[in-house]
Amino acid sequence: MNVADSEVVASILSESGFYPSAEADNADLILINTCSIRENAEQRIWNRLKALRHLKKKNKRLKVGLIGCMAERLREKILEAEQLVDFIAGPDAYRELPFLIAEAESGHKAVNVLLSREETYSDISPVRIAADGVSAFVSITRGCNNMCSYCVVPYVRGKERSRDPASVLREVRELAEAGYREVTLLGQNVDSYNWISDGSASSFPWLIEQVARVSSLLRVRFSTSHPKDISDALLRTIARYDNICKHIHLPAQSGSSRILKLMNRGYDREGYMARIEAIRSIIPGCAISTDMIAGFCTETDEDHNASLSLMEWAGFDFAYMFRYSERPGTGAARKLKDDVPENVKNARLNDIISLQNKLSAKSKKVEIGKVFEVLIEGFSKRSDKFLTGRTSHNKVVVFPKEDKTSGEYVRVMIEKCTPATLIGKII
Ligand code: SAH
Ligand code: SF4
Repeated sequence: MNVADSEVVASILSESGFYPSAEADNADLILINTCSIRENAEQRIWNRLKALRHLKKKNKRLKVGLIGCMAERLREKILEAEQLVDFIAGPDAYRELPFLIAEAESGHKAVNVLLSREETYSDISPVRIAADGVSAFVSITRGCNNMCSYCVVPYVRGKERSRDPASVLREVRELAEAGYREVTLLGQNVDSYNWISDGSASSFPWLIEQVARVSSLLRVRFSTSHPKDISDALLRTIARYDNICKHIHLPAQSGSSRILKLMNRGYDREGYMARIEAIRSIIPGCAISTDMIAGFCTETDEDHNASLSLMEWAGFDFAYMFRYSERPGTGAARKLKDDVPENVKNARLNDIISLQNKLSAKSKKVEIGKVFEVLIEGFSKRSDKFLTGRTSHNKVVVFPKEDKTSGEYVRVMIEKCTPATLIGKII
């Protein structure tokens, strides 16, 4: 999400004559794109700001701006407590950046954190700063209308807005023409994508089908799906198109119906399991990953065991796992007590991580001896004699380079694996 936003910001600023610098030391402008989702994400930003102090001393022209969700949440604290930040822009204020920078250059602290009901940056073609030329993110919605009680997103990114499908498709076509081979459609809840025009509605299954038709050489991924909204129509569309990747990220958060209710997730354990069964029957072999939160308010050992048993039952291929971190202003912060002691949260998170390590290793082992189509993304981190890419199921594969290069599709036979990576050779 933040990479996609940074690319929109780079595009807006390039219109005003700014271009990316390879090193912070040479920059006249530093923008820090921030996340508020958990407390440690914010803590890292405070440390980063302190580390920039010496650069400001060296280069008097340097302006530092804080953008994104933390800007939205902590504007006063940031301006008052830290003399380091010259301007602040919330997630819906990026078009104002050239003005905010001009204000800052004339010596005023400039702030815009107004949230919008309409802004989707649909007319802006992101500048691919973080890209490898193979894979790109494309935002299809902004904000979120769900009110998961632990989550700060609706407060810092505002109401959900769907982006005009014409602009999504234009961006995808431009990427395909520029040689990109993979797009990931992004939204907090892609399944609630809903574009209304002339009285008729366009849904996510329709949109992803249009994207898949842009080019059969273009892989299509998406994130995030919501268990309460993911439809059979979407699953059937995924099954029908070879180039829509067979991987669904479906955050469960907890395996306990009581906790899911307190989280206001809109489904219970059985509802979640029913969606997994639908995925397995409509898209056999589809990879499934999840997010889990350990130690949410009032969570008992029994609730925790329900999370572990759900993970085991689902056999997730991959998971992002978090310790619950209370976010000020959220429903949980207002109505529930953050009463699971830190040591218990840590122990439960460790249980979850070690179970997932086992499941992830199993998900790799079953692939030994099979052949997969792999989209090459670049050199392996360890050696430039090896390339790396992913299977449709989002499993990372490393293999000897031969005469192949980024952006090509190759067939790879899997010979062995580590818990995180498949290792094979091109056939
Ligand atoms: N919109 C997505 C993900 C949003 S944030 C969804 O609904 O799944 C990414 C993940 O961060 C969440 O899935 C959740 O697991 C985690 N998260 C969000 N708020 C959190 C909090 N207060 N404490 C710990 N983890 C949190
Ligand atoms: Fe947060 Fe829930 Fe929206 Fe995801 S769906 S962004 S967890 S409120």
